[in-house]
Amino acid sequence: MPSTAREWREIPGRYNIKGSKCPECGKVFFPKRSMCPQCRRASIGKMAEYKVEGKGTVYTYSIVYDAPAANKRMKPYAVGMIRTDDGVLLTAQIVDANLEDIKIGMRVQAVLRKIDEDGPSGVIHYGFKFAPCE
Ligand SMILES: [Zn+2]
Repeated sequence: MPSTAREWREIPGRYNIKGSKCPECGKVFFPKRSMCPQCRRASIGKMAEYKVEGKGTVYTYSIVYDAPAANKRMKPYAVGMIRTDDGVLLTAQIVDANLEDIKIGMRVQAVLRKIDEDGPSGVIHYGFKFAPCE
């Protein structure tokens, strides 16, 4: 039986956060966009895939007490808006921190975590969450 750590290593780059970058103005978007809202026509067909920086700071956050049924086992939990070091604002769960220790401006980095499990089939979905760093 492989250990959990080993399974994680064998999922290559799954927590890469893929966005897109406008070649005209250099703005980065997440989720991906096919057109830059600022450059419009000039950006169509030119948007480049961009790997969003995995480190950033907590821009704002809230503690979720009333979780949807699928998340019942882990409530309450923190959901934050993270401003990555390359300027992308994204929403993710904040893990590995006591809820009272989470602060605006705290340094965080993307980590690969189980998002949910599909009922009886047991299919596990992984995705990124953010954990404190530094
Ligand atoms: Zn643009």
